[in-house]
Amino acid sequence: MHCSREEQTVALTQTQVSKLGRELDKQYESLLEEVRDALEKSENQQYVELIDRAPADSGDQATGDALADLNLAIIDRHVQELRDIEAARVRIRDGGFGTCIDCGGDIGFERLLAYATAKRCFVCQRQHEKTYAHEANPKL
Ligand SMILES: [Zn+2]
Repeated sequence: MHCSREEQTVALTQTQVSKLGRELDKQYESLLEEVRDALEKSENQQYVELIDRAPADSGDQATGDALADLNLAIIDRHVQELRDIEAARVRIRDGGFGTCIDCGGDIGFERLLAYATAKRCFVCQRQHEKTYAHEANPKL
């Protein structure tokens, strides 16, 4: 690993954008796969529960619910990431991809390689996270 350089970032080339686009496609596919997987597990879990549980017994329910909740939390996070990827694809198509939504500067290829759905440059992201920690509804 090398240290991140402070030199200014440059606009993305078409080749870089295509590469990142393919990266987004790959991430999208594997996320979808995981969501399907989690959905399946949570459905099976509920199914098993319906069969096993005696109507009056609620003692074991908590375990099943906790598992279902965990799966839902995973699905929830993945769905959020899928939305981020979709938004990034729209920015690739309509323009604005690789441009920081806060300062309008270039996000930079290296940062996008590590984090292809990035909407902000490193400096603005750090600022955003600081603000976001205190504010429930960040202004857009
Ligand atoms: Zn910025």
